[in-house]
Amino acid sequence: MSIQTVGVVGAGQMGNGIAHVFALAGYDVLMTDISEDALASALRLIDKNLTRQVARGKIEDATKDKAIKRIATTPKLADLGQTDLVIEAATEREAVKTAIFEDLVPHLGRDTILTSNTSSISITRLASRTDRPEKFMGFHFMNPVPVMQLVELIRGIATDEATYTQLQQVVESLGKTAATAEDFPAFIVNRILMPMINEAVYTLYEGVGSVASIDSAMKLGTNHPMGPLELADFIGLDTCLAIMNVLHDGLADTKYRPCPLLTKYVEAGWLGRKTQRGFYDYRGEVPVPTR
Ligand code: NAD
Repeated sequence: MSIQTVGVVGAGQMGNGIAHVFALAGYDVLMTDISEDALASALRLIDKNLTRQVARGKIEDATKDKAIKRIATTPKLADLGQTDLVIEAATEREAVKTAIFEDLVPHLGRDTILTSNTSSISITRLASRTDRPEKFMGFHFMNPVPVMQLVELIRGIATDEATYTQLQQVVESLGKTAATAEDFPAFIVNRILMPMINEAVYTLYEGVGSVASIDSAMKLGTNHPMGPLELADFIGLDTCLAIMNVLHDGLADTKYRPCPLLTKYVEAGWLGRKTQRGFYDYRGEVPVPTR
């Protein structure tokens, strides 16, 4: 079966980027979210980001117009049932994702492939809650999706070879590169990245450095393009905390315990750029460190 239509569940930071790259590659995209506001702002953001690509000479104006026309939205999850490939990119909570798949399954076409963009949750467990674990995979895009080259492909224990091969071809059609990871907590990228971010928060918590000194030390001292706290704000502190909890629970090792200061920021609703406040305050002209 060839994939022509793609359903995207969740129109947040990742969902809008995923819709953007699929539409640009010629797929018809149908996006849904529980929040109508999220759907409207995703469409605005996709338009803005495509316009930026035109201004930078990366794509033609006509290509942008065609891509925009390929994206439709719906408030009804069931409408995604008839797409060829569903990519779930909703909030990083297992109960949320499981409920989405359970609600979607009765509406699915026989051959539809189901995927999750989860950063850390077991693909095998998510797949087991559907009627098609053999057609279920982890499809992990990086943020910001239109810019980042990598897609992690994660097979659950039951995923069949045809599904895996098909998704490899989809990644190629997007002009991106796949890395294959086994289905263990947080896969490859976040297994390595998140403990580093969590350690940066501990460094802040213990007073070893300020937000500015930690970020500048890691940028200038290790040639990272962004400091770890700046990157945490970019990813979303709720997502970072959720991934640390998955690592901690899934690998049962205290080295993955989330820093209490990370928990406190999330409790405050200071989730990073998406709420305008995290380790930096983004409400003014320039980001100001909050500690
Ligand atoms: P986000 O908070 O920006 O967006 C999540 C969206 O999901 C929101 O718009 C919310 O309204 C919607 N949502 C919640 N429950 C829903 C439901 N039942 N049905 C439909 N929509 C629902 O989060 P995000 O950063 O886009 O992350 C989404 C997923 O992508 C998570 O699994 C996350 O781990 C993963 N991810 C995030 C990053 C990152 O850097 N932020 C990178 C790779 C993967």
